[in-house]
Amino acid sequence: AEQMRIQSEKLKVAGEIAAGVAHEIRNPLTVISGFVQMMNNEQNSPYTYYTNLINAEIDRINLIISEFLVLSKPHSKQVRDFDVKHVVSDILLLFKPELQMKNICLLEDIPANNIVLRGDSNQIKQVLINLIKNAIEAIETDGTIRISIKEAEEGYCAIRVADNGQGMSEEVIQHIFEPFYTTKDAGTGLGMMISEKIIQEHKGWIEINSIVGEGTEISIFLEMLSES
Ligand code: ADP
Ligand code: MG
Repeated sequence: AEQMRIQSEKLKVAGEIAAGVAHEIRNPLTVISGFVQMMNNEQNSPYTYYTNLINAEIDRINLIISEFLVLSKPHSKQVRDFDVKHVVSDILLLFKPELQMKNICLLEDIPANNIVLRGDSNQIKQVLINLIKNAIEAIETDGTIRISIKEAEEGYCAIRVADNGQGMSEEVIQHIFEPFYTTKDAGTGLGMMISEKIIQEHKGWIEINSIVGEGTEISIFLEMLSES
């Protein structure tokens, strides 16, 4: 019980830090955005190509921050019905250039029929982004990531992200959901903690299968909406 209390206290603190950091990042971003806009407004600016890239990246940072903030404010969750296929294909589009650059092959095993879930699709996107990022980091270069969506038992669907990267020891698996637990030099140790929190809020669960040196499969189980 003591351990549970400490754990939930840690989660609360991590959420507060995330929200604080997110706000602090937004302000300088707004300033950068303004100056980029100025550069763009110059006649015959030679930098248009670069300023467009900078703008796209600023948009992405803002999106990530919004999702962080959504997480720390559960009441602003946007619940609606969505087809999980669309969420997955949106995400994969984001990762295609990076995967190509790192020579990582992407296999998709996605059913033709609709699998409708109810919840905040942006939050589910955030979870998938976290899982795919981890898969890429576990592989580094040259490998395979497999994404599958399957109907599972009793009205649940399973979304799986599998990689043939470095895998995890029992020790790592035990700590994986703890805030700030990371084995990476530049890791935050927040990705899996946030993912678990989002999935729990959606009344689902996460399963981990991993073998050191062979790879990892993370499965998310979420309730499907019954056909009406
Ligand atoms: P971060 O990625 O910033 O380290 P995460 O919470 O996303 O934080 O992950 C925590 C730790 O779990 C990682 O540092 C890594 O050791 C382990 N991990 C997560 N996903 C994988 C994976 N697909 N393969 C190997 N290790 C993983
Ligand atoms: Mg991560």
